[in-house]
Amino acid sequence: MTIEKKHNFKNKTIVITGAGGVLCAFLAKSLAKTQAKIALLDINFDAANQVAQEIEQEGGIAKAYQTNVLELNSLQQTRNAIEQDFGTCDILINGAGGNNPKATTDNEFHQLDLSDNTKSFFELDKSGIEFVFNLNYLGTLLPTQVFAKDMMGKQGANIVNISSMNAFTPLTKIPAYSGAKAAISNFTQWLAVYFSKVGIRCNAIAPGFLVSNQNRALLFDENGQPTARANKILTNTPMGRFGEPEELLGALLFLIDSEYSSFVNGVVLPVDGGFSAYSGV
Ligand code: NAD
Repeated sequence: MTIEKKHNFKNKTIVITGAGGVLCAFLAKSLAKTQAKIALLDINFDAANQVAQEIEQEGGIAKAYQTNVLELNSLQQTRNAIEQDFGTCDILINGAGGNNPKATTDNEFHQLDLSDNTKSFFELDKSGIEFVFNLNYLGTLLPTQVFAKDMMGKQGANIVNISSMNAFTPLTKIPAYSGAKAAISNFTQWLAVYFSKVGIRCNAIAPGFLVSNQNRALLFDENGQPTARANKILTNTPMGRFGEPEELLGALLFLIDSEYSSFVNGVVLPVDGGFSAYSGV
């Protein structure tokens, strides 16, 4: 490796799930600048297609594929289409994921005198819990089953999963999302070991609180001042600020570029301004 090297993924096929979403759309557009062929998978075709068009307008190579990461048939069809369009997968980024209001409590702490209309732990909906575990955990496992078969023995093949800082210590209110992300971190280590003899590395990034257009209104009031929850987050983030999606890029490039990280396998890399390292005292 030369220190001057820039990332060059010419002729590599990078498959990204959840690619129509806030973070993965940004990552996809950035990765397209490395000359990689970007396959954008999302259940929301229009969102992924919009990203593909933006990449093509900038001179990159990308195509959107409507795909449900929870359906093996859908994944298999997409895998076949990608093989025709770009060749088989070299790098898989499992980005599809998220929480659900049915799996979120209203209260941070349980109390004896809660008002009747509070949705506490006891009112959480089984279907909401299943939705969150399926989307995050199965939605990472099933694409890996489909795409990793093609990656075995390929030079530089690797997988990056998207965990979260809540995998290290659960956030209040979201037991299913925290548990599912902990499962992803655990699964990342499992995959790293399992594929260690066939040349596929597997790592994860664990983003902290990032500001995007999607959550800006939850974090800041109309005067641009942090909300109560946002203040709590900032107090518990040693760097004292939110992250930007751009700040994930260095971690991702490091992990997927085997010239930089050929011996890095099974790590979950926090990108969280120190949030997961801080006890609050
Ligand atoms: P997002 O909601 O903007 O994007 C998620 C994408 O996944 C959407 O485009 C959605 O259509 C797609 N999707 C949902 N169900 C799907 C399915 N069954 N099959 C295929 N695609 C499906 O979310 P985001 O904020 O960009 O987050 C991306 C990833 O990063 C997620 O795994 C999320 O849990 C994780 N994460 C985000 C943050 C953050 O601050 N935004 C922090 C930590 C971790």
